[in-house]
Amino acid sequence: MSRVPLFLIVFLFFSCDQGQTKKVTNTTLSTTNNTPKKVKNIILLIGDGMGLTQISAGMYSQGNKTSLEEFPVIGLHKSHASNKLVTDSAAGATAFSCGVKTYNGAIGVDKDTMAVETILEKARKQGMKTGLVASSTIVHATPASFYSHNKSRKNYDEIADDLAQSSVDFFVGGGKMFFTERAETRKDLYQSMRSNGYMISDFFESELKDITPDLSKKFGFLTANKDPLPVAQGRDYLPLASEMAIEYLDAVEDKGFFLMIEGSQIDWGGHANNGEYVVSEFVEFDQIIGNVLDFAEKDGQTLVIVTADHETGGLAIQPESTMDSLQYAFTSTYHTGTMIPVFAYGPDAEIFAGIYENTEIFYKMLQAFDFK
Ligand code: MG
Ligand code: ZN
Repeated sequence: MSRVPLFLIVFLFFSCDQGQTKKVTNTTLSTTNNTPKKVKNIILLIGDGMGLTQISAGMYSQGNKTSLEEFPVIGLHKSHASNKLVTDSAAGATAFSCGVKTYNGAIGVDKDTMAVETILEKARKQGMKTGLVASSTIVHATPASFYSHNKSRKNYDEIADDLAQSSVDFFVGGGKMFFTERAETRKDLYQSMRSNGYMISDFFESELKDITPDLSKKFGFLTANKDPLPVAQGRDYLPLASEMAIEYLDAVEDKGFFLMIEGSQIDWGGHANNGEYVVSEFVEFDQIIGNVLDFAEKDGQTLVIVTADHETGGLAIQPESTMDSLQYAFTSTYHTGTMIPVFAYGPDAEIFAGIYENTEIFYKMLQAFDFK
């Protein structure tokens, strides 16, 4: 890339862009010299399966309030995958992490199964810190799409191998078995992770709240052997893990960080056609969004983006509902193809207004970080 003449890079860059992006890119280019970078950190919050009705139901269930009301900029993204109109979480997350439309099931690879560098990998290359927190397993499609490159989301052992070799500085999620009880005779990954600089432990050894990350090491904690519990059944680590992630990532370096926090199980409530499951998962996620906003407000250099990969369940709030007693109907046990809201707060938030493809979220984050 460095041998390509500059004018050609500029030409290619602009010729691939849509009008909206071009305008903002010009602004970015004109301020790159001597102007301090405004966006130091990005926190991307993904509510898996969180469409507008999931948000509405969660909002009404909390006395007509949600943290999302604090966001000054709102956009909509088009969630379709390369091979299906209705996306899955792998193609959906890969659109955000890599900026490519790919097929359902793809993890950090394009439609021809070629690996594509992720926003997290790009951030790490710039000397920034990176983190992932999820209420699914950490090898599940959404978090995996930020550090792994695999033709199938189901190759959990290979995805775990990728995490072990990765430069993710901080992660918390379920899925201990993919690191310690592996199908083949390959070694327990904890050992190789420790030699790769990780302080790694799990729910079996201690509770997350009793652990203090060693800031000189990378940090990993596995919260369950496989899938973590629903929040209504006692899972409680996601707010704490999110708080610890920010503290860890913000403490170590002055080059900024990229953090992805996933409310993974809003989607699972949708698949189960269980409105209470959807709402309880949303309510927890909404609290985390509020905490993240508090940090971003104090920090002043953090861009916060909240979105979903797709809607799940075709959820509708029925006519007989009251705010205290919501009646739900579902049209599907899978995902649907409706456009998905994007909420942005902080420096460069305004570039997230409008209607655009899900892949644009990647390019907008690159622009905000001033990555080339
Ligand atoms: Mg997910
Ligand atoms: Zn799903």
